[in-house]
Amino acid sequence: MAAVFDRLVPDDGWPAVSAAGLERYLAGLATDPVTRAEHERILVIVDGLAQRAGGRLDGAPPEVVDGLIRDLDPVERDVLVQAAARAYYGDGRGAGARMIGYRPEPGRGPGAPVVEPVLRASRLADVAGHWDVLVLGAGAGGGVAACVLAESGARVLVVDRGADLRALEVGRDHLRNHRASIHGNNTGPSAPGNPRVSAEGGAEPIVVEEPHDPRWHNDAMVVGGGTRVYQGMAWRFLPDDLRMASAYGVPDGSSLADWPIGYDDLAEHWDWVEWQVGVCGDAAGHRAAGHRARGYPMPPLPPNAEARALTRGAAALGLAAGAVPLLLNSVPHAGRARCVRCGECVGFSCPVDAKNGSHNTVLPRALATGNAELVPGCRAAEVTTDEHGTVTGAVLVDEATGATRTVRAGHVVVACGAIETARLLLSSRSHRHPGGLGNGTDQVGRHLQGHAFVSAFGTFDEVVGEPDGPGVSIATLDLAHGNADADGAALVGGGVVANEMVKLPIVHWSWALPPDAPRWGAAAKAAMRDTYRTTGHLFAQVQEVPRPDNRITLDDRVRDRLGLPVARLAGAAHPETVRTTRYLAARAEQWLAASGATRTWIDRIPTGLLAGQHQAGTCRMGTDPATSVTDPDGRVHGHDNLWIADASVHVTNGSVGPALTIMALAHRLATTLARP
Ligand SMILES: Cc1cc2nc3c(=O)[nH]c(=O)nc-3n(C[C@H](O)[C@H](O)[C@H](O)COP(=O)(O)OP(=O)(O)OC[C@H]3O[C@@H](n4cnc5c(N)ncnc54)[C@H](O)[C@@H]3O)c2cc1C
Ligand code: SF4
Repeated sequence: MAAVFDRLVPDDGWPAVSAAGLERYLAGLATDPVTRAEHERILVIVDGLAQRAGGRLDGAPPEVVDGLIRDLDPVERDVLVQAAARAYYGDGRGAGARMIGYRPEPGRGPGAPVVEPVLRASRLADVAGHWDVLVLGAGAGGGVAACVLAESGARVLVVDRGADLRALEVGRDHLRNHRASIHGNNTGPSAPGNPRVSAEGGAEPIVVEEPHDPRWHNDAMVVGGGTRVYQGMAWRFLPDDLRMASAYGVPDGSSLADWPIGYDDLAEHWDWVEWQVGVCGDAAGHRAAGHRARGYPMPPLPPNAEARALTRGAAALGLAAGAVPLLLNSVPHAGRARCVRCGECVGFSCPVDAKNGSHNTVLPRALATGNAELVPGCRAAEVTTDEHGTVTGAVLVDEATGATRTVRAGHVVVACGAIETARLLLSSRSHRHPGGLGNGTDQVGRHLQGHAFVSAFGTFDEVVGEPDGPGVSIATLDLAHGNADADGAALVGGGVVANEMVKLPIVHWSWALPPDAPRWGAAAKAAMRDTYRTTGHLFAQVQEVPRPDNRITLDDRVRDRLGLPVARLAGAAHPETVRTTRYLAARAEQWLAASGATRTWIDRIPTGLLAGQHQAGTCRMGTDPATSVTDPDGRVHGHDNLWIADASVHVTNGSVGPALTIMALAHRLATTLARP
């Protein structure tokens, strides 16, 4: 093994891979059921090389081994090259990371001892009686809803199928996390036993067993949901994001529509989230943003080197660019520490508890009232109804034991994320609701959407990459609306363009090296050293044009470990989304060039199903039950006591990230529900 792998990542003053993690990496592959087959494959390929070398590789001259590697079938060579890179750069504390100047640990002390709150958890077996409100899912939307309702005096039971993990229990493995899901994730759900079915782009349906597979579409199943591991970019939607059909018409084959509410209806609720969950930012930075009554509770983090370079380019192009609002503490706030600028932010949980999510803000508040109980590791299998079809509560299942309990409640608030909420409603079938709850007009599960992410990269003569996290530091909203292509033809919407987060070394290797960079040998190591700190990276987050046939349905033939039918995902990006994405990629490239990049290039343009970690839209809100699932408050049409408090209700998903809006809508819903 060493004879081959040390040609892929040789000693060049910095150690070769066999002295820097190869054995540990291969042992990890061999023992993890998810990667065992990959380990076997590597063994077979290396064995084949040894045979071609006459039985032995150790002792063979380096140029002979190099020749054998060069002569390999390209797919087989790629398996070895990827494995070598993962072994060398996949350990954030290893030689490869040190070589390029990456630093995972905090840049400075938090200033005060960090004590992460432990949430008081109940067991399903101990949850008795009748609740005022049952909240299903404790992520972005569910956490806020539970807080507002408990503080209003309601007795609230909130359950989540994920565990309540402490920050350091959410893994820090660079190959198994929600940013680089190369071999797995760092939260639930586990594999196997939690499959989904993918029928993307009209392809034959296939069962996707691994939740870290991109075709499964990223969901963090843990108390806090996506907020446990997100980057926390905390944008308000722009006014036109809520009136897309009026602004652009309805493209053929799309279900582009206006929201039934406008910017002003949400303003006070965004404000509540910004101040109560905690956002740092600069209210003056973005001329395209909607009107605000006041600024943010915390100042932005200082601009980094990349932001300083991009500020020059933005000025040259006439783009207004400013700080990215973030759900994290730039200064000590609400009794918790400030961000210490570590290198493991997006995809991980915060080592000093400075990233603000449901788990450390609204859920502790809900529990502190004494009115709320939280049951982690508890799955809602069905929303129950009586013989008249009225919602009565839910069937809950203990994830560990499989024990089942039916809990009754006056109101049920579903907040399981856009894919699982649709799945739960579709699974809640009865003779009154044969197609599932809220699905009388076949709307549940439709309009599944996310964002089209596309990247542009640029090589600079100066250092633009600093090790200080979180890294995302500058953005423009000027390309969110009113765009036209090179021929002057109008485009539908657009999106925010921002610089990238601090890159894990393995992410730089697999994503941000120049397209013609060598991938193995000493030259590849030199390329990593030369480019890690000098590559600028912008990403555009493009608003998706929704399609009615991008949808979740139930696949009754495929069951999960509890015997429940799984979600089946179908669809692809609308051509208008692809067109706008191409345009924004070119604009991002232009911004890099104007900022001093000497060479620029763009990433692949996504064309498949875009739901992913920004999944939304599967139970859209509206005034007409024929085309929507909930009313403008989030109450399911035809049900007085069934509500949806997550990204499912988004009619369109904005030209920015959805998290702040999900929480704002949950706040709006909960204040409506709590009103006497
Ligand atoms: C790595 C990453 C980075 C991100 N960065 C950003 C960002 O910078 N800005 C931004 O705006 N957004 C970001 N997001 C997206 C954001 O986190 C999500 O949009 C948001 O969390 C979705 O909120 P939600 O309430 O719809 O669902 P979630 O937050 O996913 O919560 C759903 C919860 O329901 C639970 N659940 C599911 N099914 C059941 C069931 N049957 N019974 C009980 N519980 C159930 C899940 O375990 C989960 O905890 C990011 C997401 C990820 C993963
Ligand atoms: S907020 Fe992000 S960058 Fe700051 S210390 Fe926490 S995880 Fe690290």
